Amino acid sequence: MMALVDCNSCYASCEQIFRPDLRDKPVIVLSNNDGCIIARSKEAKKLGVPDLQPFFKVEEQLKKHRVVVFSANFRLYGDISNQVMTTLRDFSPHVEQYSIDEMFLDFSGMQLDLNEYGSIIKQTLWQNVRMPVGVGIAPTKTLSKLANHAAKNMKTSGVAVLDSPLKWQWLQKRLPINKIWGVGKRLSQRLNALGIHSAYQLAQADPHFIRKQTSINVERTIRELNGEACIGLDEQPAPKKEIFVTRSFGKKTGSKEELLRHISRYAAAAAEKLRSQNSFCSSLYLFAFTSEFKPGFYSNSLVIKLPYPTSNSTLIISHAKTGMSRLYQPGSLFAKCGIGLLDIRDRNFYQYDLFSPGQQAQTDDLMLMIDQVNQRYGRDSLTFGAEGLTGKWTMRQHRLSPSYTSSWLDLPRVFC
Ligand SMILES: [Mg+2]
Repeated sequence: MMALVDCNSCYASCEQIFRPDLRDKPVIVLSNNDGCIIARSKEAKKLGVPDLQPFFKVEEQLKKHRVVVFSANFRLYGDISNQVMTTLRDFSPHVEQYSIDEMFLDFSGMQLDLNEYGSIIKQTLWQNVRMPVGVGIAPTKTLSKLANHAAKNMKTSGVAVLDSPLKWQWLQKRLPINKIWGVGKRLSQRLNALGIHSAYQLAQADPHFIRKQTSINVERTIRELNGEACIGLDEQPAPKKEIFVTRSFGKKTGSKEELLRHISRYAAAAAEKLRSQNSFCSSLYLFAFTSEFKPGFYSNSLVIKLPYPTSNSTLIISHAKTGMSRLYQPGSLFAKCGIGLLDIRDRNFYQYDLFSPGQQAQTDDLMLMIDQVNQRYGRDSLTFGAEGLTGKWTMRQHRLSPSYTSSWLDLPRVFC
């Protein structure tokens, strides 16, 4: 058997952890630059606050209902996510973290009362982290996803166990196909055209026929919906083959200096990610564009080859700046730029070349020191001159919560 544990309204719940006064209140979280709504507490959902809606369109409505609004605080969410995942690892030797707020746990070979074990997981996460979750348990990944949907949206105690065909078929009859893991909008439309509307209808369809009409993935889904495990745990996620850091600017800019500062900041962040997975990159992809809704739309990109495979921020920043200078066009108001590190390879298997330059040991020491200082004292404790003196992401974040878990200054105070 397999469990899928998924945090309820993850980002909104993270904000409520340190603000117990907001626990039963409507809370929402906005995307970068305070653009769109990306998380809603269940009270906000009840008020009918729409998901992924531009904030400015519903701002008045939110005020009327006294909805509490936060800017996205991804460092806080990342930290809380770590606490949740660490807690969950105690419940099974085989797990797969599926996203920032979801984890699969494999219970094979464990003798358990599944309902009870699910409740213990739920209670422990509440007790240790104050994170509300839904727990779905079933014989396959696809079914445990469906069980999780039931745990959250149907009358359950937050735990749903589908341990017999009777139970999962009961649920499948009540859910449309787009609630099935891996069935998106386009696939739904194709299956609808074949007369398949409910999860149950898909589960009962002929796998060979559906495979011919769609793909082998859907055949696998059908088998999983019938309790036959086809998708195993991915316990060791592969290192990233490409690393991208891109942002829309809080305010559009026509200044070349400012554009270079932005790209330097993104390059530094990308290089830090590259080092965290112990890799080198050999090429950079750079792009910049203006607003497509304004006249004179301009968009351009280029790829730069680095002199040797590297994870050195200084080298990556300096080439990123050279590239961005070429993309810059005087008179254009830029809205967004970004960098992608390409041709990434694992350092452990990298063959140095005696006759060509390569990354020096001194550089490694320096980068390690920078990363350690920033981990210990908070991001932006040490930055590169090219990033500018403010050292902050120049995003609109008017409603940012304190860095409760990553800055000594923001440590919550408790009065008793
Ligand atoms: Mg979730």
